[in-house]
Amino acid sequence: MKILVINAGSSSLKYQLIDMTNESVIAKGLCERIAISGSVLTHKANGKEFVFKNDMPNHKVAIKMVLDALVSPECGVIKSMDEIAAVGHRVVHSAEDFTSSVLVNDEVLKICEKNSELAPLHNPANVMGIKACQEVMPNTPMVAVFDTAFHSTMPDYAYLYGIKYSDYKNYRIRRYGFHGTSHMFVSGEAAKYLGKDIKDLKIITCHLGNGSSITAVDGGKSVDTSMGFTPLEGVPMGTRSGNIDPAVIEYLMQKKGQTISEVMNYLNKECGVLGISENSSDFRDLMAEGVFNGKNKLAVDAFAYNVKKYVGAYAAAMNGVDVIVFTAGVGENDPYIRGAVAGNLQYMGVDFDDEANKNFKRGIISEISKPSSKVKVLVIPTNEELVIARETKRLAK
Ligand code: AMP
Repeated sequence: MKILVINAGSSSLKYQLIDMTNESVIAKGLCERIAISGSVLTHKANGKEFVFKNDMPNHKVAIKMVLDALVSPECGVIKSMDEIAAVGHRVVHSAEDFTSSVLVNDEVLKICEKNSELAPLHNPANVMGIKACQEVMPNTPMVAVFDTAFHSTMPDYAYLYGIKYSDYKNYRIRRYGFHGTSHMFVSGEAAKYLGKDIKDLKIITCHLGNGSSITAVDGGKSVDTSMGFTPLEGVPMGTRSGNIDPAVIEYLMQKKGQTISEVMNYLNKECGVLGISENSSDFRDLMAEGVFNGKNKLAVDAFAYNVKKYVGAYAAAMNGVDVIVFTAGVGENDPYIRGAVAGNLQYMGVDFDDEANKNFKRGIISEISKPSSKVKVLVIPTNEELVIARETKRLAK
């Protein structure tokens, strides 16, 4: 069974074709600059990379190009589109409408469209991706896999903000959480690696990348997470501010004479480690040899400190922790930040292994706590596409 996984953004579309008999990726690629001049498809298959520079005025044309590449004699991996058993789509926001993945029908699409008001940067593009696929592959089942769904198990006292309950009810203002597929995947992998039933584990998963979130997973269920109503809440990120006192917004508007949307754009795109360093949103740039000092170092240290505070908070929320997991671009690759977060948590039962942290191997699970450590610290490569493919296989059967 082959599953196509689609992650559609407003001007981009990432895809992977996964053979579910052995969960291997047989082709993957990226369409960029959809509906902008200079569209380009980069397709990787059979160990080679192919680049196609054709106009992609919309997502439907992009999907058609992807399918053409997948079946083409030169760079294809399948004989016909019929080999694609189902398509799994990443959809960012499910609100409270879905608590797990669903097979797409007209009603589901309508709900996803309605929820665009909660995720205006993501859901419209995700829906566009689904509709484009439906047009080009009308007989192939489509599945929507939501970023928020894994967090639907959060208790009400954890997801509610301290605002009027009627505003939560009327306007759906609450904490939803994101990166759900990643937190679900790495917490499951941690249990497998340790040979334990996930029901018996308290896990804190730190998804640290350009966007970052930390989740408390108790018995396999998300019970709290750092991102909120939008991905802006939580730790400072690449360009997002993370938590700030909401009064700062009005104060900034007065001081800079900016509108509310200008300030929101600032908080989403100009803050975080980019804002503090006034240099770059990319952790590699900030930590490159010879430049890891001054405001670059301050930005990275502020980031790590905030992650550490969530780790402490979630250990309290769960009355303990058995495993701390690091994943995503920064979590999987950067020993300095992992050390700054977990290197000094002896009181919690973490016996951190500096050598193992420095000498970890990329792309596989590494244990970076000492064998005697009460709390295990693991680096686990995430795989959100595989979660989408597994969910799609489960529902499309
Ligand atoms: P992601 O959003 O998960 O793709 O992560 C992107 C972030 O991971 C960027 O800020 C990268 O600089 C960072 N990253 C990727 N590789 C490394 C690395 N080897 N060391 C430090 N940071 C890295």
